Amino acid sequence: MDFVYTPENIPSVPVQGSNLHYAVSRIFCVGRNYAAHAREMGFDPDREPPFYFTKPANALVLTGATIPYALGTQNLHYEMELVIAISKPAFRVSVEHAQDYIYGYACGLDMTRRDLQIKSREIGRPWDFGKAFENSAIITPLVPKSVSGPINSGNIDLSVNGVVKQKADLKDMIWNVSEIIANLSEYYHLTTGDLIYTGTPEGVGPVVAGDTLVGNIDQLGKLELHIGPAE
Ligand code: MN
Repeated sequence: MDFVYTPENIPSVPVQGSNLHYAVSRIFCVGRNYAAHAREMGFDPDREPPFYFTKPANALVLTGATIPYALGTQNLHYEMELVIAISKPAFRVSVEHAQDYIYGYACGLDMTRRDLQIKSREIGRPWDFGKAFENSAIITPLVPKSVSGPINSGNIDLSVNGVVKQKADLKDMIWNVSEIIANLSEYYHLTTGDLIYTGTPEGVGPVVAGDTLVGNIDQLGKLELHIGPAE
């Protein structure tokens, strides 16, 4: 096959402990999946079914990187999240079988242009400008579920320049991992290459150039990100 231009490398995430990479085609993200975070964003967490937004696969950035402060924002925020990778076609799966469709897990940061997200939210426009931009999906190497075992609870935290900003337990998710997979599989034919960012706990906040972010999920290890100057 000939292309009009040479395709860039396929977006992918390395698999911890192997030479394999997990090729990524879609990134789904869950909105307001921890009650305290829903409240800090001004919403009642009890009345909402799960909802989602997406990021392009080429928004992925591997842990350890320095990213430029994002374009067009004055309020770039971190959101520390558990990421799951789908292992096989998952269509209309039940909650009780949903764990069978998990390939592995990673730590992720859903970087957010909060000013643009809130502005678009207020006037009923899509969230893309606030969420789906370059360098907005930070990720660590995937830990296969065959190594980690199922992850449904445990510590998740994030520090900025050594100061803890987010700290919660994964069991505090409003919609747990199984429920998210089951629900999304009613709307999409989930399959290999699909990542799901499962939402962030309370304590989101801004970053500035020069900041170092360190995220941690106990079973998965650390994520690190440096914020560089704006372009
Ligand atoms: Mn998020």
